[in-house]
Amino acid sequence: MRLLGAAFASAWGRGPLPRAPAALGWRGKQVNWKVCRWCSSGKIPNERIRNIGISAHIDSGKTTLTERVLYYTGRIAKMHEVKGKDGVGAVMDSMELERQRGITIQSAATYTMWKDVNINIIDTPGHVDFTIEVERALRVLDGAILVVCAVGGVQCQTMTVNRQMKRYNVPFLTFINKLDRMGSNPARALQQMRSKLNHNAAFVQIPIGLEGDFKGIIDLIEERAIYFDGDFGQIVRYEEIPAEFRAAAADHRQELIESVANSDEQLGEMFLEEKIPSISDLKLAIRRATLSRSFTPVFLGSALRNKGVQPLLDAVLDYLPNPSEVQNYAMLKQEDDSEEKTKILMNSNRDNSHSFVGLAFKLEAGRFGQLTYIRNYQGELKKGDTIYNTRTGKKVRVQRLVRMHADMMEDVEEVFAGDICALFGIDCASGDTFTNKDNSGLSMESIHVPDPVISIAMKPSNKNDLEKFSKGIGRFTREDPTFKVHFDTESKETIVSGMGELHLEIYAQRMEREYGCPCITGKPKVAFRETITAPVPKTYPQVRIKGFLDACEKGPLSGHKLSGLRFVLQDGAHHMVDSNEISFIRAGEGALKQALANATLCILEPIMSVEVVAPNEFQGTVIAGINRRHGVITGQDGVEDYFTLYADVPLNDMFGYSTELRSCTEGKGEYTMEYCRYQPCLPATQEDLINKYLEATGQLPIKKGKAKN
Ligand code: GDP
Ligand code: MG
Repeated sequence: MRLLGAAFASAWGRGPLPRAPAALGWRGKQVNWKVCRWCSSGKIPNERIRNIGISAHIDSGKTTLTERVLYYTGRIAKMHEVKGKDGVGAVMDSMELERQRGITIQSAATYTMWKDVNINIIDTPGHVDFTIEVERALRVLDGAILVVCAVGGVQCQTMTVNRQMKRYNVPFLTFINKLDRMGSNPARALQQMRSKLNHNAAFVQIPIGLEGDFKGIIDLIEERAIYFDGDFGQIVRYEEIPAEFRAAAADHRQELIESVANSDEQLGEMFLEEKIPSISDLKLAIRRATLSRSFTPVFLGSALRNKGVQPLLDAVLDYLPNPSEVQNYAMLKQEDDSEEKTKILMNSNRDNSHSFVGLAFKLEAGRFGQLTYIRNYQGELKKGDTIYNTRTGKKVRVQRLVRMHADMMEDVEEVFAGDICALFGIDCASGDTFTNKDNSGLSMESIHVPDPVISIAMKPSNKNDLEKFSKGIGRFTREDPTFKVHFDTESKETIVSGMGELHLEIYAQRMEREYGCPCITGKPKVAFRETITAPVPKTYPQVRIKGFLDACEKGPLSGHKLSGLRFVLQDGAHHMVDSNEISFIRAGEGALKQALANATLCILEPIMSVEVVAPNEFQGTVIAGINRRHGVITGQDGVEDYFTLYADVPLNDMFGYSTELRSCTEGKGEYTMEYCRYQPCLPATQEDLINKYLEATGQLPIKKGKAKN
């Protein structure tokens, strides 16, 4: 075994592994040495590659599932539980903080292999405060596994992930996890996939028993029972379907065929002609329908109890696309910098027939130095190549090229279209495009970056730590575009903004842990906005856009940013003697001032989608609490003794909610929230903000508008 590990390592053309080779624990059974040599020389065909993400609601078991996947594929020798008793934690949660909190924050890219197919996996974080990581992962992946908890079912965050997958057109499989848990109900989860997510979904497996009786699964396609033996479920045993499950299996198989036939023409025709599809007809039809996102196959299991993971891996090979089955486009910037952009289809050939185009989708300053994760969309990237950052025009040399496994790495000589790799010591921002041609003007579609909704003042507790502080802040802002920093000249404070309290709290903690710089944070401040509710009658005088934008930084009502305005420059003239930059800027500001004087203004506030889960007996108290916080209840459902409440609540009213919920539900209630939209705030809130602003600045309002509700 050890020998094979060593031989395998040298197949990558490099010296000893960063850790003992035995720790990799490659097992001869699944690793074909020849194939590995192929992939290192780039000859591996597209069909043998999958780039997948595992995304889901927090706590549904992504990290546990990923750990199992790595174990069964021979990538790691041992399994550890998240928050396990052995204190080691799962391999994928590499940051200390993640271990401590038992949640996944930064996603790690991992490379593994199942049945001769190379799989790149990105473990995406589930907490909504970190959605940017999920967005990035989905942007660079070709397919995904959506993990749903069999007890919790489709939750608020599942819907968010679902929306993101739709935005990036990512085909996916669904894995209903935790079938061993009390109250697990996969049928209900499937129903929610249909009703809440609008998916044409059907089981491709049904469970043999549930909760404590969960023994194995029935594969509806091949019509057989699958059991998972051995201490770690590593031995897959196939049996006949037990007699008592035959009728149910036949029914569900029929339902599966009908669902697929509804979205796949070929199978639909067979169905109409009453022909019986073969196993391979059915599999190919599921593949086509999954790739076109018109069907979602649903798999079952329990990652923790080591059941159902290997068939899920088979499904990744059978039903998720390889890099050549996904169309990726780059944008070509026009010479004159106009908005018009030409779309260029990337070529997925795994050779050097086309020039290299790659996207830096994640930066990480780890123990190996600055790492930049790159998804290669076209052509070949070799060690020693010089590549160009198309945003900055800077060129860099690729000194070292690696593949990552959580916090371990493997050196490689070259990578091709469809590969995910990491580079060392390259200065760039996430979202930058690299090519091997100077001045190519190409850029991969930019990643959707939501605006931060919450801000706090942050400063080092110790004045001497200022240097460490700015170093840390510099790194965090480069890695995370949803984390923004600015210096408020009025209060003379450094203000950091992000997607939620936890998001900012984690950065404050990382500052202490990773930079030895403990920080003091101020009270969170909601990012209110001002906007115009009635149009402006007058035309604008000649203006410059900069002045306008500067003026938009501060609205007249409460000093918050103005948004939702359109600026039309109608004409203008330049005077040789009298014109200067500042006068144009002033003109811009003046135009806005004039326009605002004639408009009706209101203050907008961020609204959060909140989801509360608590035992039924507390329903009344929870609803009353949400109402008190000006929440609008949007829906409600429940399983057994628990109810789930969905509500839209202003972020400004959410402070201290975790404490309130805990105390009013005897610690049994939980909630999650995510940014939803901006909306005019309540008249009382507006009044309050305006008064505070007036007090602070000692001036009179220009014009007070009425908020519409
Ligand atoms: P993540 O937040 O989605 O990464 O979820 P984790 O993998 O961290 O799992 C959250 C919790 O659920 C941990 O305590 C796991 O041990 C537990 N868990 C994961 N999978 C299962 C499962 O199949 N059954 C049960 N009963 N618990 C599970
Ligand atoms: Mg996790």
